[in-house]
Amino acid sequence: MDTGTSAPRYKRVLLKLSGESFSRAGERGLGMDEVLQMARQIQQAAAAGCQIALVIGGGNILRGSQFKNVHSGIQEATAHYMGMLATVINGLALQDGLESVGCDTRLMSAIRMDGVAEPYIRRRARRHLEKGRIIILAAGTGSPYVTTDTAAAQRALELDCDILLKATRVDGVFSDDPEKNPHAVLYRELHYNTLREQNLRVMDSTAIAQCMEHRMPILVFNYRKEGNIQRAVHGERIGTLISNQTVGDKERKP
Ligand code: UDP
Repeated sequence: MDTGTSAPRYKRVLLKLSGESFSRAGERGLGMDEVLQMARQIQQAAAAGCQIALVIGGGNILRGSQFKNVHSGIQEATAHYMGMLATVINGLALQDGLESVGCDTRLMSAIRMDGVAEPYIRRRARRHLEKGRIIILAAGTGSPYVTTDTAAAQRALELDCDILLKATRVDGVFSDDPEKNPHAVLYRELHYNTLREQNLRVMDSTAIAQCMEHRMPILVFNYRKEGNIQRAVHGERIGTLISNQTVGDKERKP
C-alpha cells in the first residue's frame, strides 16, 4: 500500500504512548532523540489526513505503584498524582518535538495547570481535532489508582475515535513474553474474550473491559519500527488487532 499518498483507513485515532517510548533503551527520563523520532512518525500520520489524539504515560519518570509499600513515606494516592504530573512533563517535551517538525498541537491536562496546558474539555478537544490539531492528553484521567491505559480507553470512547492504537516495544500480543521465551507466538487477531481467558497482558483490565463493552478495537503494534504509526493509521496488517469480531484467532511465528 502506498501510505505516502492514499487516505488513511482511520479518520480519527487515539494513540497511546507509554513513558518508555520517550527514553533511551534501558534508561529512565527523557531522551530528546527518542521524542523527536516519535514526533516525526506522528507528523507523517497526521500529514496523511488522520486526526490524532495522544494519551501519554509517565512510567519513564514515575509510576504510583512504586510507592505501594506503606513504609515508603509517600501515600499511594499521592504517588499516583506524582505519576500523573510525570505525564505532563512528557507532554511538554512531545509538544515541542511535534512543533519542531511543523505540527499544530494543543497540550490538554486532566488536572488543571493553567500556566502550561489547557484544561481537558471534551468538546474543546473534539474541536481541536476537527481543525487538524494534534492533541496531547496529559495527566491521565485526573484520578489516582488507574493508569494511562484506562485514560486512553476513556478518551478513545468519548472522542469517538475509530480505533485505539497501543504503541509498544514489541510486535504485538504474544502467547508469552517474547523477550524471555523465544518460542512465544505472535497473534495477528484476537477476540477480547480470548485475551481475557488466556490472561494475556496488553493493557490494564479496566481499559480492556471498557473497550470490549463499547466495541472499541485496539491495535497493539511496535513503535520502534520506523513508519509503523503511519502503517497503523492506514490499516496495514501490522501488530495484533483486538476486537469483538470472531476471526478465528490467527497466529504467526514472529
Ligand atoms: N496515573 C493515575 N491516574 C491516571 C493515569 C495515571 O494515577 O488516570 C498515575 C499512575 O500512578 C501511573 C502513572 O500515573 O502509574 C504513570 O502512568 P502509567 O503508569 O500509565 O505510564 P506508562 O506505563 O504508560 O508509561
